[in-house]
Amino acid sequence: MTESTKEPEKDFNTNEEAISRIRALRKKGADPLSIARKIKEGDRVALSQGITLIESKSPVHQSQARAIIEHCIGTKQDSLRLGITGVPGVGKSTFIERLGKHLTGAGHRVAVLAVDPTSGVSGGSILGDKTRMQELVQDNRAFIRPSPAGDSLGGVARKTREAVILCEAAGYDVIIIETVGVGQSETAVHSMVDFFLLLKLAGAGDELQGIKRGIMEMADAIVINKADGSNLKNAQKARVEFKRALHLFPPKENQWIPEVLTASALEDEGIQQVWDLIGSFASETRASGWFSRKRLEQNKHWLLQTIDEQLKLRFYRNPKIKEALEEQLRLVEENKTSPVTAAYYLLELER
Ligand code: GDP
Repeated sequence: MTESTKEPEKDFNTNEEAISRIRALRKKGADPLSIARKIKEGDRVALSQGITLIESKSPVHQSQARAIIEHCIGTKQDSLRLGITGVPGVGKSTFIERLGKHLTGAGHRVAVLAVDPTSGVSGGSILGDKTRMQELVQDNRAFIRPSPAGDSLGGVARKTREAVILCEAAGYDVIIIETVGVGQSETAVHSMVDFFLLLKLAGAGDELQGIKRGIMEMADAIVINKADGSNLKNAQKARVEFKRALHLFPPKENQWIPEVLTASALEDEGIQQVWDLIGSFASETRASGWFSRKRLEQNKHWLLQTIDEQLKLRFYRNPKIKEALEEQLRLVEENKTSPVTAAYYLLELER
């Protein structure tokens, strides 16, 4: 996000743009209802404002954001939420840009959001780099928003879920949520999307060993990217190996059999096939009722996550706790109390 000052002024995707508009609005007193109305009319600036309110730590902004979400929730039912993960350098942004261009060319409106908890840890962001997806940024049928910085995974995940609601209300019918395979971020993204895509590279034969089993199990499809030039043969070989490996997993609840495809984002090969596969998944699972059932399941998870996050926030923000926590930490450091006693003491204080 720190990079965004380098962006041309016309790019309303930047946070700075939205932040300055929020400042202007604050002078007048932001009106959540009018922001929500504008979002539903497809106004990108209002959408940016809404997401900035979602990301804000200020309690006033948060209550405005909640009001906007309430107005927007449930307005769009026929969207597709697509999660894309893969290690840095696998080609996620190139792939998303290509796929995005295919989709906007076919009349879709595409929003790209990111879940990148590393932005809070390192101060920089793996996914927030504004030089990514230059073409898609210029496309007025696309909306790209980097991951909110300075947050825990739980915080980023909640904000992204809420941003999805606003994007859908604004008429974006394909929502791509990108994440780097860091920590638990894939699990978080998996819990908020309809289809989960894992991007992989063909490696030197032992590529299966390096992948966390859990990610493979979550994937609805694996795409071996960079299947071009001298890498093409390796990619095709890797495809066979991954297919074989996927067979070892138990069948998915929805009966979907994960597919392995090859693609070259650089040469624009295989991208349409990936989209066709996602289309088959959507129509099959919509017809079986599984698609909407899964979303309702995800909503339950969302509710519980929101409670978890808010309880934690409330706890650590409590001035009484803040003070006592310092003291208890010092006592633990000096070995004068046990971590368990200290924890229960603090939890009791909260009540
Ligand atoms: P990300 O970190 O996963 O977002 O990866 P990027 O999209 O930034 O791509 C990393 C590098 O791989 C860049 O230099 C891209 O040009 C290159 N790249 C991306 N997709 C392909 C592809 O399909 N084929 C080849 N040969 N290179 C690619």
